[in-house]
Amino acid sequence: LNSKEIKDIEAIFARLPGLGPRSARRVILHLLKKKETLMRPLSNAIKDTLDLVKNCDYCGNFDTLNPCNICSNPDRDKSVICVVENVADLWALERTGTFLGTYHVLGGLLDALDGIGPEELYINRLITRANSENVNEIILATSTTVPGQTTAHYIAECLKDSKVIVTGLAHGMPMGGELDYMDEGTIGHAIRARKSIF
Ligand SMILES: [Zn+2]
Repeated sequence: LNSKEIKDIEAIFARLPGLGPRSARRVILHLLKKKETLMRPLSNAIKDTLDLVKNCDYCGNFDTLNPCNICSNPDRDKSVICVVENVADLWALERTGTFLGTYHVLGGLLDALDGIGPEELYINRLITRANSENVNEIILATSTTVPGQTTAHYIAECLKDSKVIVTGLAHGMPMGGELDYMDEGTIGHAIRARKSIF
């Protein structure tokens, strides 16, 4: 019934988080109705983002700069690295404005069944940073889920023989609560009142 173009874009939209086939069709119809005011700007914005935004080689953040605006900012405290699961968590911490250190984005959590090991999470890069730069503290800010805590424990073990202090976020993190879903006051408190793990 529909043209190949519409079927193709529908199949792509249906793979986006929060969208199934029905919402994908609604989005496409809406975009087609608002071609010049919505669809063309979206198409241009996607192309610009695709061409210009990269992963930071140091922390894994998304930015047009590499090193990113955080890693290249002389006012950020390079002696503290906060380890987060996803860029969404990094952005959530940035919105609080309370954390002035740097980050390491894992890009996921250890998962043997899914084949996600330490290499996939760039843990070697984190350990190298922790040992070679003037780093004093590593904050483990992964979620309180079992995979989140397993990953935090693994990283803490890797850092046992280094000189850095390993800390975790203070209480206030709901079980399985990802930083991105928490309000800024709660996150700000959780990071200010962090505690040493060892
Ligand atoms: Zn960076």
